[in-house]
Amino acid sequence: MKRREFLTKAGASGLLASGALGVSSTASAKTKYKWKMVTTWPKNFPGLGTGANTVARLITEMSGGRIEVKVYGAKQLVGPFEVFNAVSSGDVEMGHGAAYYWKNKSEAAQFFSAVPFGLNAQEMNGWLYYGGGLDLWKQIYADFNLVPAAAGNTGVQMGGWFNKEIKSIKDLKGLKMRIPGLGGEVLKRAGGTPVSLPGGEIYTALQSNAIDATEWVGPYNDLAFGFYKVAKYYYYPGWHEPGTTLEAIVNKKVFDGLPKDLQRIVESACAVANQDMLAEYTAKNNAALHKLVNVHNVNLKQFPDDVLKKIKSLSDDVVAEIAAKDKMGKKVYESFKKFRDQARAWHDVSEHAYYKAR
Ligand code: CA
Repeated sequence: MKRREFLTKAGASGLLASGALGVSSTASAKTKYKWKMVTTWPKNFPGLGTGANTVARLITEMSGGRIEVKVYGAKQLVGPFEVFNAVSSGDVEMGHGAAYYWKNKSEAAQFFSAVPFGLNAQEMNGWLYYGGGLDLWKQIYADFNLVPAAAGNTGVQMGGWFNKEIKSIKDLKGLKMRIPGLGGEVLKRAGGTPVSLPGGEIYTALQSNAIDATEWVGPYNDLAFGFYKVAKYYYYPGWHEPGTTLEAIVNKKVFDGLPKDLQRIVESACAVANQDMLAEYTAKNNAALHKLVNVHNVNLKQFPDDVLKKIKSLSDDVVAEIAAKDKMGKKVYESFKKFRDQARAWHDVSEHAYYKAR
């Protein structure tokens, strides 16, 4: 084995000397990697689980099998909320989830999934790729030996499932609701109790009255989980998650050890999957909503304006407070805020004006 490796390397350097080969050596181009990807989603769950599958399939196919990625659903190897640690420690090479699940590791991480009344999908991608967001995300995750990438987006989510009408902000008082991240903190300020539960455990919690309400994603996903069987009212809009980015994480040592071409393939596969998931939700949400309302008789309701106004005011405080918590939180908040202000100004005369005219 060693002799063969030596011969291959010797051959490669000989060719390099004659200028016939590119940057990567023959040895690294032949190296095969077998990766495990753990996810916070149930295996093959529509949109999210299948989004993780897309990342794995693209990496495997684009690399011609040089990296073979096998996907494990939540609990197959590790629990849904153990994904971050499993990849960080190097137990597995890769993971797929959402950054707001890791707020106990870094409060600022939440900005890279969703911020209440924050950026929509289009704006998230603008911030991450062209507004400095991704660089900040990489800086934060480097401390945990991780490399992050945007690898999916749900678009604007729904406000959630409730068993009572929400007529005023007072109706949120005492409400025990599954709602993660900063949205959960906002609910707490409104007098409710936020609960963080992985997707696979929500239905039973709602059915057994362990929680009074839940948000999950949108019609396409919520129909699949069958929430209409255990809750009466389906509220919009999802003020707490206006364009949630899903993440792929790779163990940093593993990523840094890859030849450059495979690093670009991993990044590109995530970028394609990021767009692909948004297209899937955009294509499938409305048919699912139609089925929920017309077949399952779900009571579709919009949050009253004054409820949204009060929630927004609480949200502004919660989001700004992250800036005061640590240095990185301040840096991320300031970058986010600057981008949000200019995106809003531009979208007032583009997207928003167009939606109104249409
Ligand atoms: Ca959600």
